[in-house]
Amino acid sequence: MKRKQVAHLLERYRVTDGAKFRLKRHDPDDTGGGIVDRKEAEALLADGVTRLSALQELLYPHASWALLCIFQAMDAAGKDGTIKHVMSGVNPQGVEVTSFKVPGPEELAHDFLWRISRKLPERGRIGIFNRSHYEEVLVVRVHKELLKAQRLPEDLDGRRIWEHRLADIGAFERYLTRQGTLVLKFFLNVSPAEQKKRFIERLDDPGKNWKFSASDISERTHWESYMHAYEEAIRATAAPHAPWFVVPANNKWFARLVVVEAMVAALESLHLKPMEMQAPDRIRLEEARHRLLEEGTTA
Ligand code: ATP
Ligand code: MG
Repeated sequence: MKRKQVAHLLERYRVTDGAKFRLKRHDPDDTGGGIVDRKEAEALLADGVTRLSALQELLYPHASWALLCIFQAMDAAGKDGTIKHVMSGVNPQGVEVTSFKVPGPEELAHDFLWRISRKLPERGRIGIFNRSHYEEVLVVRVHKELLKAQRLPEDLDGRRIWEHRLADIGAFERYLTRQGTLVLKFFLNVSPAEQKKRFIERLDDPGKNWKFSASDISERTHWESYMHAYEEAIRATAAPHAPWFVVPANNKWFARLVVVEAMVAALESLHLKPMEMQAPDRIRLEEARHRLLEEGTTA
């Protein structure tokens, strides 16, 4: 019963029509209006992880569909922890996690989707992007000086560059879905107050110090610009075939549950059946069994 309610809850966070989207209407503190408490959510997460693993076992042998999950968020919103928990039950052979960092010289020598295309999941696999091509309309939009390093021809870095990039991203994702890759995009929506709390925890706990970088503090001062860039990105690229999930992320236990449910729902929508052997293959299997049994009697 709870599972059904949670599946229903997903609709609150799934954005498929950008025109109507307003980030302000999404509360980072939301936990689904009390449908689940933390304990129940943790049990449902464990169940979701098991179901995701079973679905991946179906996805893999078909080697037809692929699933791409994109994670975007402000620092300390919980991307790493969410990926770790949600994917914890899945066979590592069927998943690849890629973290996109500041582009290096080879990457900057190409168009911005070049490095993205190289990391797309193969058919039958799940690809997880920790940051993605969206950085090109988020951090680069907030820090326009980053564009210089991209050495675009002068005529092509004008005022309409963000609009054009967003249109190109939309077209790229449309193309991927027409090629059999499901595209899910998650924005882990954390509040500035919660981020501050988590930064202080990182500073207070020597075991977490490594997670802190000085630039995290300066990025905070651009919060409004980032939120504007996120809103524009979601408005321009949310579509039924490539939805955004605006996940309330002030409570990690709730964010993780929403993410796993979204992945499970996407894979369930494929109605994958276990691979059935064709008659000639079944005969070959029977022959193999005979040979092994004969070997057993002579050995
Ligand atoms: P953590 O949450 O652990 O800090 P992270 O994802 O922030 O993880 P970092 O190594 O701290 O990882 O940061 C990667 C940095 O790379 C981010 O600041 C991000 O904005 C930046 N980045 C990623 N893609 C691009 C891009 N295309 N152009 C410029 N900067 C980028
Ligand atoms: Mg960081």
